[in-house]
Amino acid sequence: MTERDLIEQIQDLACYEGEGLVQGIGDDCAVVEKDQRNVWLLTMDTLIESVHFDCSWHPPYLLGCKAVSVNVSDIAAMGGRPVFALLSLGLPADFTPEWAVELSRGINDACRQYGCLLIGGDTVCSPEKVTLTLTLIGETKKDRVLYRHAACIGDTIWVSGSLGYAAAGLDCFRSGNVVGMPPEYPSELAPCIKAHLDPEARVDLARSLAQTSCIHAMMDLSDGLATDLSHLCQQSRVGAIIKAEKLPGRRGLAPAASLLNKKRSDWMLAGGEDYELLFTADPKDSQTIMDIAARQGLRVSPVGTVIAGQGVTLQRKTTEGYEEQHISFQGFDHFARN
Ligand code: ADP
Ligand code: MG
Repeated sequence: MTERDLIEQIQDLACYEGEGLVQGIGDDCAVVEKDQRNVWLLTMDTLIESVHFDCSWHPPYLLGCKAVSVNVSDIAAMGGRPVFALLSLGLPADFTPEWAVELSRGINDACRQYGCLLIGGDTVCSPEKVTLTLTLIGETKKDRVLYRHAACIGDTIWVSGSLGYAAAGLDCFRSGNVVGMPPEYPSELAPCIKAHLDPEARVDLARSLAQTSCIHAMMDLSDGLATDLSHLCQQSRVGAIIKAEKLPGRRGLAPAASLLNKKRSDWMLAGGEDYELLFTADPKDSQTIMDIAARQGLRVSPVGTVIAGQGVTLQRKTTEGYEEQHISFQGFDHFARN
């Protein structure tokens, strides 16, 4: 059973009749009415040692920041702003106080940076591994929430930033090619290493995009473009065509790709933890979108088109024309090998 099958089964059994519930399982956050005009956005993400991070290369301060960022990213994905956080911390009995203090500093600094308050949580002894679970509560205007299910046929598909950097950074560490703590890494690998150790949630970009009313569907990229776009398409009951040459980040991935002898497109399509925004909009609004990103010094790239049908197809230019490949759900799945 895959992670997706398991979530679908949980979703099938869940009840959707709760008072004030606007959106239950299935999007980046649950959406609950706050008052007549505003909604709460609720999300939870877990980081587990040896699955999401490794203490031998992840400085505890940056780990604390990352735990906050990956959750804030889901609030941003719905167009919201983070307000409150709750932290559940599981630590093995032999943790060092210095490590725990650095972790707490990272969590607190990141909360402050994103403008949210840590208001509670739980602390337990874990048999072996460190676990970090954050619940984030955000808010936004009810008519500004951006969902996964609103993509329209003919929309342009956009991504912010670069793709695959975090997966490449993780592979650099896993391969043993990168050791030590910052700033000892080779500088050409720094963008990929930073993306893995210290991702940034795109709150300001997402908020500005949500204000324009030109974005149809949005989510964040946590499991790789191939999988996350498949979710967006499934929920919008549409298909998608992605153009390989439009995927952003090829140049930045080159040093890691030659060091590890890996294909850049694998990281860009199936690498997890990008925490960039994936969104769709009418092609007539392209200039507005590019202007918003430019004002924030961020890159946004049109990578494909929403089409009738289902699934995600990758188009690659060849000497004879185009070659097509189905790539639906080829990203990270926790139970893919089950
Ligand atoms: P994301 O990558 O945006 O965090 P996930 O793929 O983890 O989203 O989850 C997809 C949806 O399924 C979300 O709405 C999430 O809240 C829900 N979900 C995931 N795991 C569970 C679970 N164990 N119980 C209830 N809902 C879950
Ligand atoms: Mg998400």
